[in-house]
Amino acid sequence: VGHELPGIDSLGDLRGRRVLLRADLNVPLADGRIADDGRVRASLPTIARLTSAGARVLVCSHLGRPKGSPDPRYSLAPVAVRLAELLDRSVPMATDVVGESASSVAAGLPAGGVGLLENLRFEPGETADDEEFARRLAMLADVYVDDAFGAVHRAHASVSAVARLLPHAAGDLVRREVAVLDRLVEQPDRPYAVVLGGAKVSDKLPVVAALLGRADRLLIGGGMCFTFLAAQGFAVGRSLLEEDQVAACRDVLAAADAGQVRLRLPVDVAVAATTDDDRASVVPVDRIPADQAGFDIGPQTAALFAQELADARTVFWNGPMGVFEHEPFQAGTRAVAEAVARTRGLSVVGGGDSAAAVRALGIPENSFTHVSTGGGASLEFIEGRTLPGLAVLEER
Ligand code: ADP
Ligand code: MG
Repeated sequence: VGHELPGIDSLGDLRGRRVLLRADLNVPLADGRIADDGRVRASLPTIARLTSAGARVLVCSHLGRPKGSPDPRYSLAPVAVRLAELLDRSVPMATDVVGESASSVAAGLPAGGVGLLENLRFEPGETADDEEFARRLAMLADVYVDDAFGAVHRAHASVSAVARLLPHAAGDLVRREVAVLDRLVEQPDRPYAVVLGGAKVSDKLPVVAALLGRADRLLIGGGMCFTFLAAQGFAVGRSLLEEDQVAACRDVLAAADAGQVRLRLPVDVAVAATTDDDRASVVPVDRIPADQAGFDIGPQTAALFAQELADARTVFWNGPMGVFEHEPFQAGTRAVAEAVARTRGLSVVGGGDSAAAVRALGIPENSFTHVSTGGGASLEFIEGRTLPGLAVLEER
């Protein structure tokens, strides 16, 4: 029955103690600048709680996908600057992860101070969940706190191996995420509707398959809908299509037909030659021009999805309905976001781009029960899978 994660309280008196805090500071960067600082902000309450308790807080995170060696494009330096601004205090940053610089930053932290390590993925041991690397991380601290919900689905050293080496606890953000998501997995109030969009159908098929036996309604838009439409026999023009997933989509459609879940696909889409076109035309899904691509769901589909959501008591939404980064293709995502916001039961938005879309479209975050900081993590969670970063925190 749900997760029983030990919280920060369970660590006892933290005055003067060194805390290794795994945060999720994996922000989107554009030209070396932070494009959306939502994750930095989300890490603040736990940092503040630890510093008020007198801890010496050493924060670590990954950023992007460097290949196990230092790469200046993925330095956390801009994040250290932002963190310092938001905390209104200095945040010394190490130039390495577990080397001399890390040791000296850790040693120099006063009680109540905050420091940051360089990008964990500059070390090959991180993604390998390497024991030796984890030991070097653990030597920097007395206790470990995991507040990186966006990374709990990874068996990586800073999430998994290190937690076995130190007294450990879940941070407040992880606990809040887990408390809400547990409600989606265990006896959700029904009807339970799930809206999925985003780019890659191959990323999302596992969750679709798992939800066939859990959700009552499954609404599929975004780039991923075109492989489903192709599986139904429609010509999708130049829309996103993963040929090698067509058969799997066909199986999902057959399983949905045979089961009790209602799976809805778009009936109309907004098409254009490229995302730079300043206007889109709307066509029914059986009239997608061969030389154009679908970049958003159409208004009839938006109305249909809104209707399916109207009386839902539990809603999970992951993945934009269209290329919302371009104004002509925002309408579908806006309509779905507003429909999810209007529902009266539990409403959860998961996914980095989905959360960014909510903010970019100016929809108040408090119109949802919860906006998750985790994309892949929230998807794997609602699939009902055991997530390595949570399982290890539950170990005593
Ligand atoms: P999240 O981060 O919320 O999990 P994804 O990463 O799966 O979402 O997908 C987000 C991306 O999907 C956005 O950048 C958006 O532009 C893209 N997308 C949505 N609809 C389409 C479409 N019809 N064609 C191409 N890309 C799309
Ligand atoms: Mg994304």
